[in-house]
Amino acid sequence: MTEADVRDDTPAARLAAIGARIARAERIAHRPAGSVTLVAVSKTFPAEDVEALIACGQRVFGENRVQEAKAKFPALRERHADLELHLIGPLQSNKAREAVALFDVIHTVDREKIAVALAEEIAKSGRRPQLLIQVNTGEEPQKAGVPPREAVAFAARCRDVLALPVVGLMCIPPADEPPGPHFALLQKLAGEAGLSQLSMGMSSDFETAVEFGATHVRVGSALFGSRPYPAG
Ligand SMILES: *Cc1c(COP(=O)(O)O)cnc(C)c1O
Repeated sequence: MTEADVRDDTPAARLAAIGARIARAERIAHRPAGSVTLVAVSKTFPAEDVEALIACGQRVFGENRVQEAKAKFPALRERHADLELHLIGPLQSNKAREAVALFDVIHTVDREKIAVALAEEIAKSGRRPQLLIQVNTGEEPQKAGVPPREAVAFAARCRDVLALPVVGLMCIPPADEPPGPHFALLQKLAGEAGLSQLSMGMSSDFETAVEFGATHVRVGSALFGSRPYPAG
């Protein structure tokens, strides 16, 4: 199905189709059913679209900007107390307070300054979002993330020195390369770091990510349709 077709289906049909593809990938990889969490990436889509998926049972959503999430999710949360909100985009240290207040999981910890800012806000607020370290597996200069060779030490420092609730690693492979080797590298680094969660796989490659052990796949356009404007 192309992205243009996606919105011809009902939200229930789209969600069921992605759920079936995840379940099939779990079976093929000999992984337990339900071991992969679908993070529905709602960036750029209005609250009504999120509501439509909530009505179909989806509870876990991802946003890539603090401000956009802040505009959309507090009202949704008043109606649905059990939503789980994930930050999947870059975090500036001056937004650490808002991020800790709003998100349940932050996938994009990628430098000392952010780690320190999060540690301070967690101590102050008493809220403890789960954290993942973003790894720049393709070592692309324009992309966020710690270099692979620093990932294990950085994770250990965040966990053991800053006492942060680090649970896993996240990556976004280069757009022009097969993703498998990047997913394999992330899986290997998580093993070395003693971390159990792997956030990897998007609309175009989430089945491959499941094969390499993804615990969280981040799917946007295959669920919501092509984005109305660039999400940056
Ligand atoms: C937008 C985004 C996604 C979802 O991408 P799709 O290709 O629309 O599924 C996943 N992860 C991150 C970090 C994103 O910014």
